[in-house]
Amino acid sequence: MIIIMLGAQGTGKGTVAGHLVKGLEIPQISTGDIFRANIKNKTELGIEADKYISKGELVPDSITVPMVANRLDEDDCKNGAILDGFPRTIEQADSLKEILAKENKKVDLVINLTTPREEIIDRMITRRVCPNCKATFNTKLNKPKVEGVCDFCGTNLVQREDDKDPKAIEKRLQIYEEKTSPLVEYYKNEGVLRTEVISTSINHLAKEAAEEILADLKK
Ligand code: ADP
Ligand code: ZN
Repeated sequence: MIIIMLGAQGTGKGTVAGHLVKGLEIPQISTGDIFRANIKNKTELGIEADKYISKGELVPDSITVPMVANRLDEDDCKNGAILDGFPRTIEQADSLKEILAKENKKVDLVINLTTPREEIIDRMITRRVCPNCKATFNTKLNKPKVEGVCDFCGTNLVQREDDKDPKAIEKRLQIYEEKTSPLVEYYKNEGVLRTEVISTSINHLAKEAAEEILADLKK
């Protein structure tokens, strides 16, 4: 099963994906995490991608698309994957369709998370990530058991560089609106879209949404 996580930054894509990974036993492919690992290890791909990521811009398709295609080709993806952070443009969605078609696969489900804008900015500022196992936490809404420490592996949590910079946050949200949000219509037309509102105002957060989705998938 191929699942795509759609939704702006800070809506809880990573958190929902994390729950689905455990429930469905298929891997999560986060393009942002792959880029950050490459930046940390100073690979050629990482050095190139960082030129864009540090400014909050999209990494060019010539780098991103083959990287995802290679990842999907790995053994652990034979039963499917949860894509988190890809596709982010109509062009990437078209490329994904081609990549999957070669394997007689298709996108089965697109989970679109929406959150009011004020909440999004607040969540990006309060987001903390585990540099080791990539789990995400939030200093207000999804606190780790021990402050500043990952629940799952005990590593000290950090704030992402691009979450520290208000300019990069604005830029990323703007790119989401312009380039990624048209994918909602794209996948609605394909009949695979499921939208979930994630908001404290209705007491519906990523964890609850993930449990509902898992329950429906197991029906
Ligand atoms: P967020 O969605 O919170 O901004 P991600 O971890 O998904 O963060 O991505 C971090 C950065 O990596 C993005 O701002 C962008 O520069 C780059 N990136 C991630 N996925 C893609 C993609 N599919 N296409 C182009 N660039 C990407
Ligand atoms: Zn961890």
